[in-house]
Amino acid sequence: MTVNGESWPNQARWTGKIYSAGWRESEGGTSQVTEPATGHALAEVGVASPVDVARAGARAAQAAGDWAAQAPSDRVEVLLRTSAALRAHSDTIRDWIVRESAGVPAKGDYEINAGLAQLTHAVGLASLPRGEVLAAQAAGGVSLTWRVPIGVVGVINPWNAPFLFALRVLAPALALGNAVLLKPDPLTPVSGGVLVARLFEDAGLPEGVLHVLPGGARTGQAVAADPHVAMVSFTGSSEAGREVARVASQGLKRISLELGGKNSIIVLDDADIEAAALAGAVSTFGYQGQACVAAGRHVVHADLVEAYTDALVRHAQTMRMGDPRAEGVTIGPVISERQAARIEHIVDESVADGARVLTGGRRDGLFYPPTVLDHVDRAMPAYTKEIFGPVAPVLPFHGETEAIEIANDTEYGLTAAVHSGSVPRATAVAERLHTGMVHINDVSAKDAANAPFGGMGTSGNGSRIGGTASLEQFTQWRWMTAPGQM
Ligand code: NAD
Repeated sequence: MTVNGESWPNQARWTGKIYSAGWRESEGGTSQVTEPATGHALAEVGVASPVDVARAGARAAQAAGDWAAQAPSDRVEVLLRTSAALRAHSDTIRDWIVRESAGVPAKGDYEINAGLAQLTHAVGLASLPRGEVLAAQAAGGVSLTWRVPIGVVGVINPWNAPFLFALRVLAPALALGNAVLLKPDPLTPVSGGVLVARLFEDAGLPEGVLHVLPGGARTGQAVAADPHVAMVSFTGSSEAGREVARVASQGLKRISLELGGKNSIIVLDDADIEAAALAGAVSTFGYQGQACVAAGRHVVHADLVEAYTDALVRHAQTMRMGDPRAEGVTIGPVISERQAARIEHIVDESVADGARVLTGGRRDGLFYPPTVLDHVDRAMPAYTKEIFGPVAPVLPFHGETEAIEIANDTEYGLTAAVHSGSVPRATAVAERLHTGMVHINDVSAKDAANAPFGGMGTSGNGSRIGGTASLEQFTQWRWMTAPGQM
């Protein structure tokens, strides 16, 4: 697409560069972005070194004060123009998401629509009431308290929903008057960083308020450690999250961790089997199972388990695997050799320990087919580990207590789904699950801009993003008094 004679996103403008008060060469060199489905080179981006991060941190701290001082309505204008730019370029953005993260176009659309919802919600957030008038300690005195921005927020993101995860933090953080250093994953720096910067740039976000700093763990460590960064928002694995928290806590920073999950879909004996199996298939096979909210255990009443498993196998076998850009393809490759080898290892070890493969279970390069396992016991890695691939371990149960016990038998606590013909019965089960989110007669993988997203246990550190939780996350209290008569 061409805007004012310039193509969008105009690759020449950002090739080999980072975004830090404009597009600039970095000290950290460059890195190539590859399309997982074809192995083709897609782009080259700049890599931010610790020196680049330090420079960006200092510049963001400078810009943050002016940005926070702007009227909320001015910040809202920038968000509205960003939304308009996103709508105008949605086809191009979808294509980048599809090629870089290897999801089907519907996954690209989902990220775009959910990203738009984040921007819309942030518009409202910017003008929510944010303070209280307190009883003063002396007659005639004034005592006020209100929420002020945190300052500079460091954002470290994964590759699986790169565009959406950038917007779900940037929209509220910027709306509430913060500056941001965004470090996208090295596998998806374009849809997770460059395109987002291009949108805000076109929308007139003042220079220095947003910095996009591609790179790997070293760049992430520099962001977490930077003295100008007052808060670190990390989304990714629990292992890396622990490391980021260790570094950020040295600087006594606020830390928000959105980590992994081992989520159950529970099917009670009065559930609609077809509806439950469809929800189960979508929750495990959608985007190749590469979602923190994917279903990692299918916990099914023993009376239904055969019919449910048959339906799940049917769904798996009707999916078409291939390049996600090709017509009719419903499942693409997994993101990297590392991920494919990890999935293979988990399945192969479980099979060696006695699990049975009902369909799938053999990969072709990065293409791992939708896989259903039964005869899974609690010592197997398919039961204990987050798989992050299209693999559905099915576990029968006999009573609700056992189903709840299986679902809670994990250090994680992100999300779950409960299927039953009786919503009150499903709700009673849902209330006993140790998860930050739970959905009745639905998929496990859900999010909404107005809902607090996050988990219990090692799925996070109790932080939530979304809805009014974002107001708490990205602001802090200030108390001010003025005396009465002296
Ligand atoms: P990862 O933890 O390896 O990487 C995530 C980000 O952290 C990347 O930008 C990476 O470069 C950076 N990073 C890695 N090690 C680092 C370190 N030591 N210091 C600083 N930065 C570091 O994540 P992944 O394995 O690529 O992503 C998958 C994981 O993310 C899964 O566990 C998944 O459940 C989780 N996830 C959670 C959510 C959520 O909202 N809860 C969403 C998506 C993914």
